[in-house]
Amino acid sequence: MNYYSLNGKSPKVSFKDATIQGQAPDKGLYFPENIPSLQKDFIENIAAFSKEEIALSVISPYVGDTIPANELTRIVSETLSFDFPLVKINDDIYSLELFHGPTLAFKDVGARFMSRCMRYFTRNHDKEVTVLVATSGDTGGAVANGFYGVDGVNVVILYPSGKVSTVQELQLTTLGNNISAIEINGTFDDCQQLVKQAFTDEALNKKLFLTSANSINIARWLPQQFYYFFAYQQWPDKKNLPIISVPSGNFGNICAGLLAHHSGLPFEHFIAACNSNDIVPSYLENGSYQPKKAIATLSNAMDVGNPSNFVRILELFHKEFNSLKETLTSYSISDKETLDTIATVYANNNYLLDPHGAVGYLALKKYLEKHIGQKGIVLETAHPVKFYDVVEPVIHTTVPIPPAIQAILEKKKQRIRMDVNYADLKEHLLLPRK
Ligand SMILES: *Cc1c(COP(=O)(O)O)cnc(C)c1O
Repeated sequence: MNYYSLNGKSPKVSFKDATIQGQAPDKGLYFPENIPSLQKDFIENIAAFSKEEIALSVISPYVGDTIPANELTRIVSETLSFDFPLVKINDDIYSLELFHGPTLAFKDVGARFMSRCMRYFTRNHDKEVTVLVATSGDTGGAVANGFYGVDGVNVVILYPSGKVSTVQELQLTTLGNNISAIEINGTFDDCQQLVKQAFTDEALNKKLFLTSANSINIARWLPQQFYYFFAYQQWPDKKNLPIISVPSGNFGNICAGLLAHHSGLPFEHFIAACNSNDIVPSYLENGSYQPKKAIATLSNAMDVGNPSNFVRILELFHKEFNSLKETLTSYSISDKETLDTIATVYANNNYLLDPHGAVGYLALKKYLEKHIGQKGIVLETAHPVKFYDVVEPVIHTTVPIPPAIQAILEKKKQRIRMDVNYADLKEHLLLPRK
């Protein structure tokens, strides 16, 4: 399998090169040159397979021969060393809990898979690898955790000051070792802009072996398909297919779901649940795509004003607006609605949503109100304890803190602060490391 750039001005590359480069030289996102079709009996017999077997079948055609089978098997089983339970919230809505990994958010799977692929691909490199990543909240922790302690890899994380939760910030600033964090006096979009600038700086790239870990990297994007197979596998009524609601920011996760759907994984419909950053809901409403500055919300991992992966969704649908609209609906949910949803679902169903899951839940509920008789799954993308500062005042009780988080809360954060200034970032990247 090869990958082409969506900007169309760079050569096709292998899975290995696309993973290492992150972005194509023409600044386009990589896209698989063909989408594998699933065997019918694989779908029909999905109950019989383990999660590792499912994942291997899904990812193998994308990886091709760039990673030997035994190595890929090991990478997949290390990546999936926790559970993905489908939990019933009420008669119509189930939650696929994607927060049982080490940093308590769904990004663990992509980050763990990518870091292991990267480690394999760079095993014989003489230059150190610098992984440069911008985070709106959860990416940083997941990536830092995935690469923590890996020889020959340095991770530099940029995060927007004051816009990540306490737990999120501690997850990226307390690891130390080969992980360093920079608190940027700006928004997530500013962080992403700085990262993009570093990747296009030829002088810098001659000195450092720079690579990205953002959700545009195919080795992070593609394994997110697994969730949708786990959702389908656990869905109790295969004759009445679920609607899938995905809390969306950069649109990597939902784009992976749509990719799985194009391969033949059956679902009734998809919902992109957004917060007040309503670029995609507006686009689906009026056909005009207008990137905006990101607005800070309570579901901060979705505060994105120009979702990077949306071009991949357009490619998947051959830019046919009407066929996209048949498969995808999008809603924008306010912070007030988010808080009300957390409170209501907790009171009525004794289920505690995090702010991202709450956005997904309410979007799904709105859709189901217009489609009587249908049922759905919300992807619960983060553990509520990650956002205890938001959740606790709403439910008037404390969220029990898991031991792994308690340990982090007792550590001191270590980061450097920086204005939105590329020259400062460059200087920092060029500092000698131990
Ligand atoms: C990153 C993130 C999202 C958004 O996912 P995208 O793939 O960027 O759309 C949603 N919820 C949580 C908790 C996240 O960390």
